[in-house]
Amino acid sequence: MDQSRFFKSEAIVLKYFPLGEADRVVTLYTPGEGKVRAVARGVRKVKSRLGGHLEPLTRVRVLIVKGKSLDVVSQAETLTSNIALRGDPWRTACGLYLAELVDGFTSENLGNPPVYQLLRQVLETVGRTDDPDRALRRFELQLLRLVGYAPELHHCVECLADLAPASHSFSAAAGGILCPSCRGSDPLGRSLSLNALKVLRLFSSSDLQTAERVRLAPELTLELEHTIRYYLCYLLERELKSTAFLDLLRREREAGERRSGKSEAGVSSRSR
Ligand SMILES: [Zn+2]
Repeated sequence: MDQSRFFKSEAIVLKYFPLGEADRVVTLYTPGEGKVRAVARGVRKVKSRLGGHLEPLTRVRVLIVKGKSLDVVSQAETLTSNIALRGDPWRTACGLYLAELVDGFTSENLGNPPVYQLLRQVLETVGRTDDPDRALRRFELQLLRLVGYAPELHHCVECLADLAPASHSFSAAAGGILCPSCRGSDPLGRSLSLNALKVLRLFSSSDLQTAERVRLAPELTLELEHTIRYYLCYLLERELKSTAFLDLLRREREAGERRSGKSEAGVSSRSR
């Protein structure tokens, strides 16, 4: 048997779409081969051996058979189920958003083991933490660094001057910060507070434990989310599909917290 036609790997399921009556095309992210798309035959049948193992956000061990046109998932075994996420719509929405980012920023058959480790780590964090926002922001910035799109956060991207402690502008088109003198060069740039810039810098280089210790006021949380999302959408040249659901759930959570009086008690900024 020609071994080169097979490849065995750990993988995280990013998404799938149906193919024909009973099959699915599954998008996996692997450490060594990067993004892999493969057909899972018969997976939608009740008695399928593969079925339960190939749900999005599941960490699996797979055996892939390389085909001339399409690769095929021959075997799949769950290593970490996504149950921790699936029981909770908010965490699931966060996980699907992370999967969409990895899908959007990576290429097929181009291995990048640190991206795999980053995704695996952030999914574990989202499964256990009450406040996934910081882990999500850190993930976005570190993913951008690993795929070569890290924003410039220390010098003005126009005049190259060191950035003074002040409010600046974030330019997606220029790939980083514009100083107050240069902000006019990109009218579509977004104002960025000094605190937001400091957190962007910290999350770009910090480990997860450090990032999780940072306390963010609700308005700073939103500023960071909107700034990074503006940059991500510019790079991807499209809106992110999963953010509409994420935003809807966030509004519902906040409304629920207000009803239960948490906001008045000042808890909401930490528990979201
Ligand atoms: Zn400048």
